[in-house]
Amino acid sequence: MAKRLDILVPFLNERESAAGFSALAGDLARQVKERFDLDTHVIFIDDGSTDGGGTLYGEHMTGDWSLITLARNFGKETAILAGLDHSAGDYVLLMDADLQHTVDVALDMIGRLIADPDLDMVYAVRSDRAETRSLGRYLANGFYWLINMGQRYEIPANAGDFRVMTSRFADALRQLRDQRRFNKGLYAWTGFRQERVLYRAGRPAGG
Ligand code: UDP
Ligand code: MG
Repeated sequence: MAKRLDILVPFLNERESAAGFSALAGDLARQVKERFDLDTHVIFIDDGSTDGGGTLYGEHMTGDWSLITLARNFGKETAILAGLDHSAGDYVLLMDADLQHTVDVALDMIGRLIADPDLDMVYAVRSDRAETRSLGRYLANGFYWLINMGQRYEIPANAGDFRVMTSRFADALRQLRDQRRFNKGLYAWTGFRQERVLYRAGRPAGG
């Protein structure tokens, strides 16, 4: 039987991007099957949306997918944990619903993870952010410098939640039940081998 990739998609009020993301997910699932012979299951996590957009996935999605609806807005970090609790794939991909995370980068990351048995995660770093010089960037770099000072593990700057991981990495994250989660810290804390790829974010729907 083919191995499976679970795609976790937390969303809050993404009505405008629902049709576009459904097309993107269908395209990704097809290419993942062709290139890596992986089946895919998309798990949407509705993080307290109030725009009724969640129902649109039902109209547009093809293939294998499911929807988890949270009782209120808990924040993306907790929404991802809810998705992890409902996933059991051989690989788990995290993606935003707003079209900023692209098929090409996802395929690149999945390919790298599968090709190297010593790797447990590949994560995307926004190159367009790393290049900008602004007060926000300066403060963000200061934040990462401080948070990494004297630690046994390093949290990479400019990395987000656009990542793919092995099932054992997902198992480790599921065991970390922090109520106020900082996933970027938890990813680094596990100590598993990780590789980064650079990417430019896609244009968000309506943006
Ligand atoms: N999101 C969520 N819960 C929240 C806020 C955001 O699930 O409380 C989702 C959002 O719909 C999107 C992803 O998390 O799919 C990233 O959010 P956003 O685009 O606001 O973050 P950024 O692109 O600035 O990192
Ligand atoms: Mg976004």
